[in-house]
Amino acid sequence: MSNFKPTNYTLRCVATGHEFADHGWDLADNECAEPSLVRAIYEKKKIEVKEELDFYRFCDWLPVRRMLKGSAAPVTFRSKGLAAHLGLENLYITLNGYSPAHGAKMTTCSFKETEAYSVCGRMSDDEKRVLVVASAGNTARAFAKVCSENNIRLLLSVPADNLNALWFEKPLNPCVKLIACEQGGDYFDAIRLGDMALQSPMFYAEGGAKNIARRDGMATTMLSAATTIGRIPDYYFQAVGSGTGAIAAWEANLRLIEDGRFGDNTAKLMVSQNAPFVPMYDAWRADSREMLPYETHRARRDASIIDAKVLSNRKPPYSIKGGLYDALKATDGDVLVVTNAQERKAARLFEELEGIDIHPAAAVAVASLIKAVDGGQVDKKATIMLNITGAGEKRFKAEHDIVYLQPEKIFPLNVEADAVVEAVEAMFSE
Ligand SMILES: *Cc1c(COP(=O)(O)O)cnc(C)c1O
Repeated sequence: MSNFKPTNYTLRCVATGHEFADHGWDLADNECAEPSLVRAIYEKKKIEVKEELDFYRFCDWLPVRRMLKGSAAPVTFRSKGLAAHLGLENLYITLNGYSPAHGAKMTTCSFKETEAYSVCGRMSDDEKRVLVVASAGNTARAFAKVCSENNIRLLLSVPADNLNALWFEKPLNPCVKLIACEQGGDYFDAIRLGDMALQSPMFYAEGGAKNIARRDGMATTMLSAATTIGRIPDYYFQAVGSGTGAIAAWEANLRLIEDGRFGDNTAKLMVSQNAPFVPMYDAWRADSREMLPYETHRARRDASIIDAKVLSNRKPPYSIKGGLYDALKATDGDVLVVTNAQERKAARLFEELEGIDIHPAAAVAVASLIKAVDGGQVDKKATIMLNITGAGEKRFKAEHDIVYLQPEKIFPLNVEADAVVEAVEAMFSE
């Protein structure tokens, strides 16, 4: 990793076109005249893939100033089993997860690893503050692994009901600490707890979809597909929670067009949600940039019913300039819905035909592809990219001894911010 140089780029506000230098962690807020995502504009227009650098093979188009240990890149291959079953001539699977037979080595088994390696690679190595990540599962596991193996201080906040999602191959470095909100709390309560910790100047937020590193990390799935296939696909299938991964795929598509060697087409984004939790589907059907009202108690109930819990984001970057609504319009895309029953059937079929166990969210994407093919929505000759966002957890757990990260403290749901600040400051002051 010796001859690595930080990537050169500037930032551009999508809404106004204003360009500026990356001089801080929190992008945009004081540089964009209106609410908008900010994009990285990379100096290098033709990407040079450096395979020996694992995930950082795509570093020409990642906003990173250092490379971290233990990373893995998404793997793209041409489908045989599923493609034959569906009568598709050019179906490509981009695999994010663990499957040694395919060369897929993400040991936390989801594409959240791509964002964690990118976000933490953007961080300065003399950062004194502690990174805070609130999550229901996959994101927490990905950041925990990257930070543990690279000695980066991290505070995770998860709901107590999701502690079983924090499984690891080996005990974590004590620079990673976990807090939880008591049983009965959900993802939104974990976010609230994380926000309370952030009231202390010792901590800083990861930033979510607004962080260019998060999106450009996830964009490596599209880069993996296009550089393996040799062209930009015609369709991109992915199950969405926040929609960040799909926005990232579109942004990567724009860079690939500029590169010039991968064609000039725009892949149609075919994104899917798990019914009955379908707020983006509802807004898209109504042809509305704004999300429609979604009562909290209904959202909580719907989120508790769906199999693919990671898809239950209630405040996605859908309406914001440069967000999912714009991405769907620009790519002539669509939002599809999948029930739990369709998802479970698709997971079984995928494992049988491709030999890989997949996450319920990835199975939502597979089911949406099956529905789109059955409904005549895709041309059978088209080049289709199926983003398998999580895979191999069953295999990984069967092949490894698993340990669980234990919380330092579990807070009641009605805790006051002062008490949280005092507790988390003490955790990192020793
Ligand atoms: C987070 C996640 C998704 C959804 O990704 P978004 O970028 O939030 O839309 C899909 N699948 C898996 C396995 C995930 O962990």
